[in-house]
Amino acid sequence: MKDTYRHQGKRQQLVRVVKKKGITDERVLAAIGKIPRHLFMDSSFEDHAYQDKAFPIAADQTISQPYTVAFQSELLEVKKGEKVLEIGTGSGYQTAVLCELGAKVYSIERQRELYKKTKTFLARIVYRPKHLSFGDGYKGLPEYAPYDKIIVTAGAPDVPRDLLSQLKVGGRMVIPVGTEVQTMTLFVRKSVKEFDKKEFGAFRFVPLLEDKN
Ligand code: SAH
Repeated sequence: MKDTYRHQGKRQQLVRVVKKKGITDERVLAAIGKIPRHLFMDSSFEDHAYQDKAFPIAADQTISQPYTVAFQSELLEVKKGEKVLEIGTGSGYQTAVLCELGAKVYSIERQRELYKKTKTFLARIVYRPKHLSFGDGYKGLPEYAPYDKIIVTAGAPDVPRDLLSQLKVGGRMVIPVGTEVQTMTLFVRKSVKEFDKKEFGAFRFVPLLEDKN
């Protein structure tokens, strides 16, 4: 669990890469510059941890590309103390970014192996989400709703209604929608019944799977 000067140097290079690709939110850039991504990955990939790429983690899943993590975090506009629901805990890297931005994070993972592994790992480092849950994120986490922000980190074939209903009025949800390729989509809840929708280009995620526990 070491974070050497070499790791730190490579991390600053990664920040420059992500910035060049268009990320401007200084708080998000600072989080990318601070969080030791190599610790969230299998040690065999450690040398590649600061490339702007997705990599395999356990249970055939991936740790998202840093640019994607930064892009979603920037769109979410997280403020300190806000309640954020994350669907797809995976490696816990995006969870850590949200914690670093001052959010109270609730996160769900449907692969038991990953849920257990990441829960143990996050407990060992300084990032403390409010709650990690094992289950189907399609349904959200109604027991802690409503949320200021919701972030989905797997490709959703459609927009889960339960997630929209768990968003506060004024809240934002960032979700990649599509099957083969996903369109990054932002929903802003204008009133109980009204949502604004904006689209932000193509990304590629592992699929959001429904009811397969
Ligand atoms: N945020 C993660 C991204 C992991 S990839 C990271 O930074 O590492 C997406 C994750 O979503 C995978 O771990 C996958 O198992 C999970 N997932 C897929 N469908 C899900 C569902 N219905 N509910 C909860 N998690 C789901």
